[in-house]
Amino acid sequence: MVNNLLDTKIEFLKGVGPKKAEVLKKELGITTYNDLLTYYPYRYVDKSHFIKIKDINSEDISIQIKGKIVGIETIGVGPKARLSAKFVDDTGMVELVFFRGLRWIKESLFVGKEYVIFGKPSLFQRTYNFAHPDFEPVEVFVNEQQKQEEKFSPLYNTSEKMKNSFLNSKNIAKLVKALIIQVQGYIHENLPPQIINQFKLLSHQDALIQIHFPSSPDMLSKAKMRLKFEELFYMQLEHQLLKNFRTEKSQGFVFSNIGEAFNNFYNNYLPFTLTNAQKRVIKEIRQDMKTTHQMNRLLQGDVGSGKTLVALFTMLIAIDNGFQAAIMVPTEILAQQHYTSIKKFLGDMPIKVALLTGSTKQKERKVIHPLLENGEINIIIGTHSLLEDKVMFSNLGLCVIDEQHRFGVGQRAKMWTKNHIPPHILVMTATPIPRTLAMTVYGDLDCSVIDELPPGRKPIQTAHFFDKSRLRVFDFIRKQVKAGRQVYIVYPLIKESETLDLKDLMDGYESIVRDFPLPEYQISIVHGKMKPADKEYEMNRFKEGITNIMVSTTVIEVGVDVPNASVMIIENAERFGLSQLHQLRGRVGRGADQSYCILMTSYKLSAEGKVRIETMCQTNDGFEIAEADLKLRGPGDIAGTQQSGLLDLKIADIVKDEPILKASRSLAIQIAQEDPTLSLPKHRLLREYFIKNKPQTDFSQIS
Ligand code: ADP
Ligand code: MG
Repeated sequence: MVNNLLDTKIEFLKGVGPKKAEVLKKELGITTYNDLLTYYPYRYVDKSHFIKIKDINSEDISIQIKGKIVGIETIGVGPKARLSAKFVDDTGMVELVFFRGLRWIKESLFVGKEYVIFGKPSLFQRTYNFAHPDFEPVEVFVNEQQKQEEKFSPLYNTSEKMKNSFLNSKNIAKLVKALIIQVQGYIHENLPPQIINQFKLLSHQDALIQIHFPSSPDMLSKAKMRLKFEELFYMQLEHQLLKNFRTEKSQGFVFSNIGEAFNNFYNNYLPFTLTNAQKRVIKEIRQDMKTTHQMNRLLQGDVGSGKTLVALFTMLIAIDNGFQAAIMVPTEILAQQHYTSIKKFLGDMPIKVALLTGSTKQKERKVIHPLLENGEINIIIGTHSLLEDKVMFSNLGLCVIDEQHRFGVGQRAKMWTKNHIPPHILVMTATPIPRTLAMTVYGDLDCSVIDELPPGRKPIQTAHFFDKSRLRVFDFIRKQVKAGRQVYIVYPLIKESETLDLKDLMDGYESIVRDFPLPEYQISIVHGKMKPADKEYEMNRFKEGITNIMVSTTVIEVGVDVPNASVMIIENAERFGLSQLHQLRGRVGRGADQSYCILMTSYKLSAEGKVRIETMCQTNDGFEIAEADLKLRGPGDIAGTQQSGLLDLKIADIVKDEPILKASRSLAIQIAQEDPTLSLPKHRLLREYFIKNKPQTDFSQIS
C-alpha cells in the first residue's frame, strides 16, 4: 500500500500518546500521521528579524521584538487582576499584559533582563500593548536559533482545549518536526512526472516539508503552489470523471412522455403564467430526462423566483412516465410548507402526496411506508428522514433536493441508491453562487438559472437604523399592521452561544409584547429549541394571518412563504453574514404590496459589518450580493459550504488561486477525456490516489 507509514495512528508519534491523540482528534479531526502532516501552518514568523518598536504599526499581525523589561506591576485584585510589564528597545516602549497564570509569569519575568517577545500588538491610548505574548530570554532564544536551521517558524491554529493539553502552536511545530524526521524518505509522489515537469512543481515530499519549515520565502511559495495545485487538480479531476461517467456511461431512466398529469396541471390548475426563465429551465430539465443518462442538475434561482413550481413540473413529468418523485428539504417547517403549497397547487388532481419528517408518528409511518413501496404515493415530501434505509420506493424516478447547501455530497449520493437505476436528481439552491464558483463547487452538475422574478413584484426597500431609532421603527410596524400587513422580527442565532441568543430573543419578545399590546396585536414566536409541533402551530397561525407579528430566530430563514408579510426587521443585523441577510430579506416581497427590510444595528459596526449593511441597502440582486460576500469572506464560508463538505479545501482558495484553478481544471478535463478510467500506465499514480483517497468516487463503476 502506498504511503503506509503515513497512515500510522497519531498516538504512536513520539510525544503524542492517547490523551493528546484524543484532543487532536476532537479539536482538529487529526487521527493519522498524514492528517498532522497536512495540518498546514496559517502563518510564519521570520525569527531572524526583529521589528523596532517605533516601526510597529497596527496593521502588523504578529511580530518579534528584542528589548528589556523596565517595570512590572500587578493591577487590581482577585480574578480581575492583571500583570503589566513595560518593555523597551532603543526606539520606544510597549506594554505587555497578562491576565492568566500571573504567579508563574511574575516568577519568570525580571526587570532589567533582555527578552525576545513575540505577539500581536494592539493600539491602546497611543501605546502598543501585547496581550499574553510569547517571551524568551535573549540568550535562550539565540541558543535555539543556532540549533534551528530554518529561518521561519510555523504558526498553527490551536484551540483553548488544545492549549490546556500542551498542544499550543509551538508544541504542534515540535510534533510536526519529529514526524517529518521519521517519515522523510517515505513520502511518495502522488502526481505523475509529466505533470510535475509541465508545471514545474516541487515534489510532494519537498512541498510537505517546506510548507511547515520553509528554507526561504521562495521555497515557501513553491510549496504552497504545489499543494494548492494538487488539491485543486484532484478536486477537478474527480468532478470531470464523475461527469463523464454520468453523461456517457451511466444509465438513467428515460422520461420521454409529457402526459396527462403535466398537461392537465398546466392547462387547468396553474394559477399564473410561467415566467420565461421558468419555461426555459423546465425545457432544460425535460431535455436531460429524455436522454438515457441520469440527470444531475443544479437549479439556481434567487429567493422568490419560483423554484417550487419548476420542481413540481419536473415531478409531474416523472409521474407521467410511471415513476414516483421525492422532494427533500433541510427543515421540518420547509417540508410542511412545500407539502401544503404543492397540495394546494394540485387541487383535486388524482395525485397522492405525502409528508414524511422526523416528527411523523409511527402510526402514520406504518401507513406511509407500504404506500411508498407499492407505488400508491406519487410524491413524497420530507427531510433527512427520507434517507433512512427503511424508506423504500416502488419506483423512484426523480429526487428534488431543495436548499442544497444544507445537505452534503454524501447525502445527495445516498438518494442514488433508492432505485436499481439511480433516479434523476434536481438540486435547487437559493444561494446564488457566482459562476466561477459554481463551476468549481458543483463541477459535476449541470447548471440552470432562473434569472427573473415573477411579474408584479415591487423591489424590496431596504434601510438601516441604529438601535436608538427603535421607536420610529416600531411606529412603522404599527402602520403596516394597521394596513393589514404582517411583520417578521428576526434575531440572530449563532451556535456558539445558543443560550445567550435565546435570551436575546426572549428579551426582545417581551419588549415587543409590551409595545404591541393585545388584542390589537397578535404575536407568534418561533425558535429552534421549540418542539416541532409547537413551531408548526405558531407558523401556521402566522401563515393564516391570525398573528400579525412573527418574532423568531433564523429558523424561518429558509423558504418560508407568507405573501402578506411585507416587513422584515432584522435585529443585530451586523451579526449576520451577507447571504443570510439576503435570504432573510427574501421572506418578504412575495405579494403585491410594497415590502420593506429594516436592518437594526448598534453603533459598534466593524468595517466589514458596514460594508455588509451598505451592500444590502444598495442592491436586491442575489448574484451581486454573492460576489460581495465572496470578496468579504472568501469562498470557504459561502453559506456553509465548508461544513457540508462541498468545499473541503485545506490550502487552496478558489478566488485568490483562480489561475491555478484554471490550469488544473483544463488539465483535469484533458485527462478525463483522454483516459476516463485512468487505466493508462502514465496515470497509475492518479488512479492510486483515487482508490486511496476518494473511495466514495465509486471507482469500480468508473473502471
Ligand atoms: P423560491 O424560488 O424562493 O423557492 P417559491 O417557489 O417559493 O420561490 O415562489 C415564490 C412565490 O412566487 C410563491 O408564492 C409562488 O407561488 C409564486 N410564483 C411562482 N412562480 C410564479 C409565476 N410564474 N407567477 C407568479 N407567481 C409565481
Ligand atoms: Mg423555495
